[in-house]
Amino acid sequence: MNPVALSKTDTKSKEERLIQALRKANLRLTPQRIAICRYLANTDTHPTSQEIYRALKPEYPSLSLATVYNTLSALVELGAIHALGDAGDDTTHYDPEIEPHINLMCVRCHRIIDLPEEAVAELEKEAAERTGFRIFGARVVYYGLCPDCQRELEKEGQEKQHGRG
Ligand SMILES: [Zn+2]
Repeated sequence: MNPVALSKTDTKSKEERLIQALRKANLRLTPQRIAICRYLANTDTHPTSQEIYRALKPEYPSLSLATVYNTLSALVELGAIHALGDAGDDTTHYDPEIEPHINLMCVRCHRIIDLPEEAVAELEKEAAERTGFRIFGARVVYYGLCPDCQRELEKEGQEKQHGRG
């Protein structure tokens, strides 16, 4: 199966779901917080708080990194987004996709790709049945090298060989 991006057609409902979550957390729905929800709903790059801050700051000059951070924290606590802390670059990445899927992480460029996978939901069901656990969420992570990094490493290797000759 090819690592295809998850459906883009439901970004509006995704945004609405995140805004609802903030409402539930009793956070004031400022234009900045709504912009953060919209940004999350429209990205599949698993941004960090810094990246979101930098992207929105030009349009929202009064935005602070603290606002970005506490908005993301509230969404994580409510289970509306996932915090991914193990991409290997010592920062937390945020994943607005909470349907069962596999995260593929590149250990070289730290990109994270989503792979929708029915089997993840099946596995969750089976785990619950076999252990009696009530499962709130799951993460399946594969580590490796993305196709771009594989190509770049191959190219670097070839250049080194030629340089030596
Ligand atoms: Zn890579």
